[in-house]
Amino acid sequence: MTKIVICALALSLFGCGTQKKVENADVMKYANTITAAELSEHLYIFASDEFEGRDTGEKGQKLAAEYLVKEYKKLNIPSPPGVTSYYQPVPSSAFRGNVKDSENVLAYIVGSEKPEEVLVITSHYDHVGMDKDGNVFNGADDDGSGTVAILEIAEAFMKAKADGYHPKRSILFMNVTGEEKGLIGSKWYTDNPVFPLANTVANLNIDMIGRIGNGKEDAGDYVYLIGSDKLSTELHELSEEVNRKYINMELDYTFNDENDPNRFYFRSDHYNFAKNNIPIIFYFNGVHADYHKISDTPDKIEYDLLEKRAKLVFLTAWEIANRENRPVVDKTPAPPQARR
Ligand SMILES: [Zn+2]
Repeated sequence: MTKIVICALALSLFGCGTQKKVENADVMKYANTITAAELSEHLYIFASDEFEGRDTGEKGQKLAAEYLVKEYKKLNIPSPPGVTSYYQPVPSSAFRGNVKDSENVLAYIVGSEKPEEVLVITSHYDHVGMDKDGNVFNGADDDGSGTVAILEIAEAFMKAKADGYHPKRSILFMNVTGEEKGLIGSKWYTDNPVFPLANTVANLNIDMIGRIGNGKEDAGDYVYLIGSDKLSTELHELSEEVNRKYINMELDYTFNDENDPNRFYFRSDHYNFAKNNIPIIFYFNGVHADYHKISDTPDKIEYDLLEKRAKLVFLTAWEIANRENRPVVDKTPAPPQARR
């Protein structure tokens, strides 16, 4: 009895004496818990017809949110303080047009040394629903791929934590709603942040990392990175360094040009963080023949490549969460109206 009480007290103060120096962790051991098999298992459920294309505010999106909550509970990751049952409500009034109440899904690992500093990892879990004939837009790549990657990344951090390697900074895993309606869920979060934006050290946003984009068919392993150098030289260098050290895939910066006609920098959830001066990296595979079509299905995902890209995000997150200082903001990006 006494022992349990002491342990409970110690747990609340120091994590029951099991915490180890995170610098000594074999980080690849945890990266390797992210597997093609588990990503595939999640995605075949998450992008199934049962979720009806996850249209914001509709039944399919609610079912998808419930799935995520169930998985976070399985992983023993709590809601952030002040958030009830993992949901941040995004009201109908936040949307243009006729969209029902919706919710962002948030899970949280508190940091051991700098708990007030938060790294946010995002992906949108909504998609575009069904067509008038009842065909489902499964959105396996957009953005089922990013969503299941976050589940696996969260699991990897929890496995490290179970071994005593707690991240120094806090990590917020956020599955965002309303992206397809105009980045509304992420805008709602940055307008109503759970943690002060001034203490939000970076945002890693994953939107479509399961396929090979147009023109990259013969490229080998690659991922497009967008935005990494826009606010923080240090974040960009950290990201390059992590890739060189552990993954060695091609980091393609073609779409990083703010004058690129596709304007991808402005087209996913990271932009709401970037416009608040928070350094971001957007991970993306480029568009392909099935983009926003009913043929974006889980059987077309390149699971080994998805695994590799998810590992890169995890390892980059690990470095941001654990290095001595948060990435320094040393640059001012051109405002959107300044682009050609
Ligand atoms: Zn998307």
